[in-house]
Amino acid sequence: MTDSTTRRDMIKGAAVAGAGLAAAPALAAGQGAKPAPNPANRFQTEPFAEQKQPWPALQRNMHPVPDCGEASYRGSGRLSGRKALVTGGDSGIGRGAVIAFAREGAAVAINYFPTEEPDAQDVAKLLRGEGHKIELIPGDLTDGAFCDGLPGRAAKALGGLDIVVNNAAYQQSKASIDEISFEQFDRTMKTNLYAMFHICKAAIPLMKAGACIINTASVNSVSPEKELLDYATTKGGILIFTKALAKQLASKGIRVNAIAPGPIWTPLQVAGGQLPGEMNKFGQDTPLGRAGQPAELAGLYVTLADGSTSYTSGSLFSANGGTGVA
Ligand code: NAD
Ligand code: MG
Repeated sequence: MTDSTTRRDMIKGAAVAGAGLAAAPALAAGQGAKPAPNPANRFQTEPFAEQKQPWPALQRNMHPVPDCGEASYRGSGRLSGRKALVTGGDSGIGRGAVIAFAREGAAVAINYFPTEEPDAQDVAKLLRGEGHKIELIPGDLTDGAFCDGLPGRAAKALGGLDIVVNNAAYQQSKASIDEISFEQFDRTMKTNLYAMFHICKAAIPLMKAGACIINTASVNSVSPEKELLDYATTKGGILIFTKALAKQLASKGIRVNAIAPGPIWTPLQVAGGQLPGEMNKFGQDTPLGRAGQPAELAGLYVTLADGSTSYTSGSLFSANGGTGVA
């Protein structure tokens, strides 16, 4: 056998082996593979019917009921053994994160306003039924003392704290600053900004290297809607708080990031989040031509929480239907 024959045979052999290797995953993928969903029509594209509920609104009474991934999210052990606290985890985007975290193997404590007990029980029943550890901690986040104690209560119940998601928010649409009462302004600041400050301050001493904080910001963090003056102000603050805290906590090995949803179908929207008569426009002007569903954000929360994004801190990630706003 000459050198050239040997080389030729080796190349040929490698090509055959390569073809075999390439064919194996293709065959495997072909068995039971589902096509990727079309984002343009994966969820309802028609405008939503006008509807209103007293604040804070229950997800179970919405038409249609938001999709938080109850029937679709499948985990693969990405957060195995982690302990997470999610505020506003009873419904909407927070519920989507709770379902995904639990199915990825995390134990989860959920905070919500006490009158949201029915929504909290719905998600707890679903996840406990699948064998996941879910702790319910109702309480009012406008109460600073309650916020101070919340991370410790979650850590005690779960046996530690690795992930904190500051997701709860208060949003009331008003056409003019003249219509924003001091009480509304104050409640928006206390819920969206003060609670995050209290919770982070109490949580950080309980967290170890590898832990993370995820704050739910908004497209309003960078491009405010004129009827969301007070809310958008807090969302801008959440983004800057995220970036500054990330710099403080980097040396401790704790990452801090933010997620900026666009128009997502959740209880917040039917509890005063939209101006009266505007519901039928919600999400329709995005390039995808529809509002998003909470299930479409869950993957972002998981990705920011697991170790695969270890070089990512102080950053903002968006799900906005293609507007490119954030
Ligand atoms: P949601 O109504 O399902 O969640 C908001 C939650 O905040 C409530 O479930 C409630 O538990 C909690 N909350 C409010 N005030 C509270 C208080 N005083 N005490 C305890 N809990 C309180 O609506 P959502 O849209 O899923 O909101 C989640 C996050 O997403 C919020 O930060 C919101 O600003 C953000 N966001 C939503 C949209 C959207 O279009 N839905 C867009 C951008 C950002
Ligand atoms: Mg709720």
